[in-house]
Amino acid sequence: KKWAYRFGGGTAEGSVADVALLGGKGANLAEMASLGLPVPPGLTIPADACSWYFENGRCLPEDLKTQVLEGITAMEAETGRSFGGSAKPLLLSIRSGARASMPGMMDTVLNLGLNDETVQALGHDASDARFAWDSYRRFIQMYGDVVMGIDHEVFEEILEDEKARHGHDYDTDLSAVQWQHVVALYKKMIEEEFGETFPQDPHVQLWGAIAAVFASWMNPRAATYRMLHRIPEAWGTAVNVQAMVFGNHGSSSATGVAFTRNPSTGEKALYGEFLVNAQGEDVVAGIRTPQSLTEEGRQASGSEKPSMEKLMPETFREFVAICERLETHYCDMQDVEFTVERGKLWMLQTRSGKRTTRAAMKIAVDMVAEGLIGEEEAVARIEPSSLDQLLHPTIDPRVERTVIGSGLPASPGAAVGEIVFTAEEAVAAEAGGRKVILVRVETSPEDIHGMHAAEAILTTRGGMTSHAAVVARGMGIPCVVGAGTMRVDLRNEQLICPGGIVLKKGDIITVDGSSGHVLKGAIAMVQPELSGDFARLMDWADKARRMRVRTNADTPQDARAGRSFGAEGIGLCRTEHMFFEGDRIHVMREMILAEDEAGRRAALVKLLPMQRSDFVELFSIMHGLPVAIRLLDPPLHEFLPKSDEEIDEVARGMDMEPGLLRRRVEALHEFNPMLGHRGCRLAISYPEIAEMQARAIFEAAVEAGRETGEPVTLEILVPLVALRAELDYVKACIDGVAAEVVRETGVEIAYLAGTMIELPRAALRAHVIAETAEFFSFGTNDLTQTTFGISRDDAASFIPTYQRKGIIDQDPFVSLDFDGVGELIRLASDRGRQTRPDLKLGICGEHGGDPASITFCEDAGLDYVSCSPFRVPIARLAAAQAAI
Ligand code: ADP
Ligand code: MG
Ligand code: MG
Repeated sequence: KKWAYRFGGGTAEGSVADVALLGGKGANLAEMASLGLPVPPGLTIPADACSWYFENGRCLPEDLKTQVLEGITAMEAETGRSFGGSAKPLLLSIRSGARASMPGMMDTVLNLGLNDETVQALGHDASDARFAWDSYRRFIQMYGDVVMGIDHEVFEEILEDEKARHGHDYDTDLSAVQWQHVVALYKKMIEEEFGETFPQDPHVQLWGAIAAVFASWMNPRAATYRMLHRIPEAWGTAVNVQAMVFGNHGSSSATGVAFTRNPSTGEKALYGEFLVNAQGEDVVAGIRTPQSLTEEGRQASGSEKPSMEKLMPETFREFVAICERLETHYCDMQDVEFTVERGKLWMLQTRSGKRTTRAAMKIAVDMVAEGLIGEEEAVARIEPSSLDQLLHPTIDPRVERTVIGSGLPASPGAAVGEIVFTAEEAVAAEAGGRKVILVRVETSPEDIHGMHAAEAILTTRGGMTSHAAVVARGMGIPCVVGAGTMRVDLRNEQLICPGGIVLKKGDIITVDGSSGHVLKGAIAMVQPELSGDFARLMDWADKARRMRVRTNADTPQDARAGRSFGAEGIGLCRTEHMFFEGDRIHVMREMILAEDEAGRRAALVKLLPMQRSDFVELFSIMHGLPVAIRLLDPPLHEFLPKSDEEIDEVARGMDMEPGLLRRRVEALHEFNPMLGHRGCRLAISYPEIAEMQARAIFEAAVEAGRETGEPVTLEILVPLVALRAELDYVKACIDGVAAEVVRETGVEIAYLAGTMIELPRAALRAHVIAETAEFFSFGTNDLTQTTFGISRDDAASFIPTYQRKGIIDQDPFVSLDFDGVGELIRLASDRGRQTRPDLKLGICGEHGGDPASITFCEDAGLDYVSCSPFRVPIARLAAAQAAI
């Protein structure tokens, strides 16, 4: 069994392909060594040794020790030094490095091999006693912390006392003798605290440090990080044993970190920091303020301290050349660590650099221009869901802010407005040209109009799938939900925040749906920038994808937003939302409460022109792109008032006896409305409603066709079909109206009549339903509800528990359940296409904008996905990645 993979001196036994075995750090050190870059020689103990360590009572295999010692012998030959030697001692760094980068999660020990004798030898050899004692005290500190478990702070206290005693500000001010004294104090403290002396034998130190790195894989910090990032415990960490190079060897030595491009803007300019006369940890520890690498960086930061470019121009040039070499080799922006020892540059680490979405876009586009990567690779590199960051205004990161509360980041983006507590106030304020934030305990369907009118929504109750969260995401409105530390005091119209802050109706707040923060006052915003790199990348994505991307749009506003984000049509227009707008709800109620068909028809006549004008607008915005309109879906009682006060108020407005209204409301009550009198069941009970809607649609199509000169591509969606006979009935009704409108207008109307597949029975009987249906749209919100038998509105009370207990991984309402709901989709697609080979297939609902679900749709062979307007670019990118 091979327990040690060597690298250094221009060759290596591993390469970047061995990340699983050698960890990211080890594999990239090997790769850099093979490239002939200056890497201190070393070896990597593979990650499976970590498993061995835990499976064998936390000890190391004997042949591992032999192989490591052989490797060290090679390092001695390469460096001309000897481990534990009394003349030119070889010191080692022991570095952890797992397969996935876990920044700062595990531990590193530097300067291993120093003891009371080798420290003298090191000082002598370097003619620099200060450097030797500084290294020794660092070693004791790190070894004490990582291996012996002594709190870092204890050492810092001793050091701070010494600095104060001598009146020094910086560590670098201490002399050799003073460091020697610090070492003595450290050792004394260890003896007193532990009753044992600091280990003097370099081999004891070596095995102790290697074991400690393995052990750190199980420390709570690492375990939490693994859980958050879904890193399997079984991976284990590799250990790198590497010859030390010294950045703390006087003023011609330094250590630093760099990104080969700017990680926040993506600009092609070296970006980083370094510290003269220091070792690795000092840069991050913030002991001294690091200096800029480049002159440009120094000027930008307004720092007085010279840049590396100025201070060590030759080494700097070599470093720049290496960075360029690494970028061309890896074809990606790199994050590197380096050390300069008395003018000689050493590379200690490289990896793909983390970056903001904006930077990721710029870098990908630039790298295509530079010929480093192809267009498809550029498309593949952007995480689709990260686009969310770009599509909404965000809080200017440079401005000061007061956080007055926080909740779940339910819908991204930030917005400023006055506090209002009711949907009505929100609507009134918007009509008056004022910007408002709707603040509620939670929201319900009656708040829709108020939510539309608001800039952002804040609730003090509810989770990521609460009504407010789902609707806000759909509308692309920033939303924070479940801000439990804040309290809505409706009676006094105030919002009570922690720390005794009380805000009144009309006070200005900023809601940041990306972070979940609620801030006092108006915070400055940065507007999304959708041209340039973004547009270029989306073009490439569009070229690469097979599926079309449509938007769900209930209003002209949604349709316009969807178009501006590149939607190729409307995949779902839920007509019921149109009935909540403005005065229409009154007419709608009149229709619902009518005693008989004649009464209903009278009200429907009033609704017809309103619907028609909505559709004309939608059709004109979509300019001939397909528009799928769904007939009325929700149960009628959703349009009626609920509480006694509301009933009284509505009754007064309708000149109706409140008792009578209450009885009608009660009569329409359902035990389980989700499975009740809704969808096509309404059209079958009250065909006059479907007729009115069909007429509004067809007349609008004729009108829009005349206005724009372009024929409308029309699809009519019948919801909640379980039986073919249901669809036949409703379709006959639609066809009848179409024939009438053609007769009246003399204009031919082309349209497709299709159905939502949102009940398991419909999926199973798809081949029969497809005899009537000309297209299917998978309504995966309902299909998930009906397949699982879980109502979405009630899921929040147990889905999180299911996730915590590992019963399910993902909320099936967020990411499609491939195994169950997905199987129904595949089955319905196959069966449907058996009867009708050209059956058009699409998906609408929350899943249409979820990248993982979109990948599934590509595999299932769907023709298009449809999602809320603000997710259209995400869907375009995800569809491209699924097709690549
Ligand atoms: P992390 O994974 O936390 O970045 P590293 O193993 O990269 O830990 O070590 C942290 C720092 O220690 C490095 O950035 C470098 O400055 C220093 N270091 C590591 N190995 C060596 C070495 N062989 N010689 C000199 N410094 C080293
Ligand atoms: Mg590092
Ligand atoms: Mg549905």
